[in-house]
Amino acid sequence: MLFKELAQYYEKLDAVSSRLTMIEIMTELFKHTKPDEIANVVYITQGVLAPPFEGVEFGMAEKLVEESIAIATGFTKEDVEKEYRKQGDMGKAAQIIKEKSRLKRMSQKEHSVNEVYDAMRKIAGTSGSGSKDVKVKMLANLIAAAEPVDAKYVVKYPLDELRLGVGDSTVLEALSVMATGHRKLKPELENAYNLCSDLGLVAESLAKGGEKAIEHFHVTLFKPIRPALAERLPTAEQIIEKMNGKCAVDQKYDGFRCQIHKDGNKVKIFSRRLEDTTAMYPDLVQAVQKEVKAKSIILDGEALAFNEDTGEFLPFQETIQRKRKHGIAEAAIDTPLKLFAFDVMYLDGENTMGEPYHKRRDTLEKLFKDTETIRPSGQIICTTAKQLSEFFEKTIESGLEGIIAKELNAQYIAGARKFSWVKMKRSYKGELSDTLDLVIVGYYRGRGSRQAFKFGGLLGATYNDKKDVFETISRIGSGFTEAQMVELRKMLEKITTKTKPARVDAVVEPDFWVTPKYVVTVRADEITKSPTHTCARQRQEDGTEAGLALRFPRLVGEEAVRSDKSVEEATTSKEVLEMFKQQKRVTLSSTEA
Ligand code: ATP
Repeated sequence: MLFKELAQYYEKLDAVSSRLTMIEIMTELFKHTKPDEIANVVYITQGVLAPPFEGVEFGMAEKLVEESIAIATGFTKEDVEKEYRKQGDMGKAAQIIKEKSRLKRMSQKEHSVNEVYDAMRKIAGTSGSGSKDVKVKMLANLIAAAEPVDAKYVVKYPLDELRLGVGDSTVLEALSVMATGHRKLKPELENAYNLCSDLGLVAESLAKGGEKAIEHFHVTLFKPIRPALAERLPTAEQIIEKMNGKCAVDQKYDGFRCQIHKDGNKVKIFSRRLEDTTAMYPDLVQAVQKEVKAKSIILDGEALAFNEDTGEFLPFQETIQRKRKHGIAEAAIDTPLKLFAFDVMYLDGENTMGEPYHKRRDTLEKLFKDTETIRPSGQIICTTAKQLSEFFEKTIESGLEGIIAKELNAQYIAGARKFSWVKMKRSYKGELSDTLDLVIVGYYRGRGSRQAFKFGGLLGATYNDKKDVFETISRIGSGFTEAQMVELRKMLEKITTKTKPARVDAVVEPDFWVTPKYVVTVRADEITKSPTHTCARQRQEDGTEAGLALRFPRLVGEEAVRSDKSVEEATTSKEVLEMFKQQKRVTLSSTEA
């Protein structure tokens, strides 16, 4: 496929406002893509070069891209800058300048999708002294060979400004329709994706090996498995009931989630967002090499700072000191970590995810019986709510944030929030017991004292994973520090859109819409029904429609946005609906008491 053909599909995607049309366009696109280019089409469409665990980034600043456009078109950098200011969009500026340029397309040969992708990977992989000039030239060559419309996308891609809004779920659905004519293959495709976290690989396997390849998809060492997640329930009684009277109860550690892959002496550690974070943990790598007796393994666990002398867990603020790019060795000495292993998904060539949990737990206990740094998570087996409550209280007292109950016969359910794991956290009086992770879909102009910051708050949304859309739940106007307001405005200015993005479902209108890209953590007092928000919207008894909204929402946390969560990992509308029901139940039982 030629890149210019791909650009035509992007033009169509850019113009649509419904997800269904988006799926139709993507299906058409996949039908016209060859098996050896479909992985690259998936990556480009999602604006990435590779899945997150490969850690490849472009490193192209705006100034360099301006230079490339100038070289490719014979205009000056100042002309490009001027057009950019006028358009507010570098891709659009490139397109207009290309139209005006009198330089003929330098190369007669039109680039294929794979040629553009390969060149982009080379650009990303070029480093060291003189690399800037090489990057600029390589990009200039691509722009020179492109038609104006293609140039727009050739420029947007390395600037991370493609923003076509095509989420994982849309890709999976379109792949299913491409292969079978309907959606029936989506669950299997999802499963394959959960096992490798590489959407390009899933698409390629389907295109090359058909449905069979997807049905027999394997776990692969050094390709992270999408993590299992927990549902929530507010009381010990409800947990025991949900677990049919018996379950394991783990301490919930507030540190870094680590998925550890080991084969012989080779070790890699992936974060919750599946980024390769091995370099951050030299001490854990060493411990894995020393303490894990298996030849090959995939482990799930939480790493946190622990004071061996006092036996105390250190708060997250201390553990987070380990998140750094420099001084890693010193930090490893100052704040040593323990790894609390809580699951094992692969052992010596065998996928163990399908085994019942109690069996995987036995394996863990045997593996880490007398080890120093890696230990099995603290756990008891409970058959009564009283036992569970006592363990919960003890856990909180020791400085941890709560418990996670685990169903004894459950498989490891990759990539999903299911009731086989149920978390219960310390509850805050008069507040919802858990925070929500909301997607920013818009923001407001600052008024009054906020005028100086040009920032008056956010429009937050939850993720509806069934419909693959973002539904608004609240305007968030407080909890920001001044620095956070400045930071947020700068980040959001770059991703504003003229109209409501296709995957946002909203009735309210913020001052500015933004592409769903960032997640913020919010605490609130209560969830209430709302005629203006679309989160979990349902028809009411009186025939009107109502969604859910937050009362007194405020931003929490030191970081302005949550860097460890993608928008599809935000709190779902279904979870909010569950929290709303639980809240009603709690209020009822406390008034009854
Ligand atoms: P939170 O914001 O509450 O940390 P989350 O959205 O990151 O939650 P949840 O599904 O709510 O994820 O809770 C599971 C998380 O808890 C895991 O991602 C893991 O990092 C952490 N965790 C800590 N201890 C355990 C444990 N013993 N078993 C499973 N997960 C644990």
